[in-house]
Amino acid sequence: MKKIVIAIDGHSSCGKSTMAKDLARSIGYVYVDTGAMYRAVTLYAMRNGLYPAEGIKEEALKADIEAGKVQVSFKFNAEAGRPDTYLNGELVETEIRQMEVSNRVSPIAALPFVRTLLTQQQQAMGREKGIVMDGRDIGTAVFPQAELKVFVTASAEVRAQRRYDELRGKAQTQEEADALSFDEILKNVQERDYLDSHRETAPLRQAPDALVLDNSHMTKEEQNAWLLQRYNEAAAS
Ligand code: C5P
Repeated sequence: MKKIVIAIDGHSSCGKSTMAKDLARSIGYVYVDTGAMYRAVTLYAMRNGLYPAEGIKEEALKADIEAGKVQVSFKFNAEAGRPDTYLNGELVETEIRQMEVSNRVSPIAALPFVRTLLTQQQQAMGREKGIVMDGRDIGTAVFPQAELKVFVTASAEVRAQRRYDELRGKAQTQEEADALSFDEILKNVQERDYLDSHRETAPLRQAPDALVLDNSHMTKEEQNAWLLQRYNEAAAS
């Protein structure tokens, strides 16, 4: 079997990361969650006063990025079976998944200088192949030559419900769980779909040669089996 690049793109909260992570683990590939990289840059902007209510301070963020002050990296977490995200050496896996970050990430991800930086880093990570990368523009902008491209989608309601269940499962207290609102999560999913598909630079778009997977009515096991089969075909050809 030859080593290949696997690009998994699609809408927010459609289970891309879980599928991609499971596949990478079962075939011994490196898994990269590019959404986590955009989330980490967003967290940096929020923490450093570069994302006030009036809008992003683009010049200041650009200057910090150019000065190398925003370093995003991953370290494999053996217990969780997936890589954890670090921002300037600090573990931020929990912080970047919170709703404040989800609500602000798409405008940050639309900034061309942010995309240029992260795209270059992602391309460097995939140079040796043997990688499963998930995001919005992997098969179109980051690795247009990827040997296997999958575009995952599901209805907005199904995706919001999955995200709601996931966040409830992660809540530390009953109060935290009760504070979650399905309607707010659905709104976030719909807004991100819109912003991600309508931005000028590398918008979310299905690559013409991508295989489409609508997993609205599929179990996790069915999706994993489908993806493994597609990998076997792509790596053997
Ligand atoms: O995958 P996840 O939902 O964590 O991604 C968070 C956000 O990061 C997306 O809504 C999108 O705005 C941005 N993103 C992107 N390009 C990628 C991955 C994520 O623009 N390759």
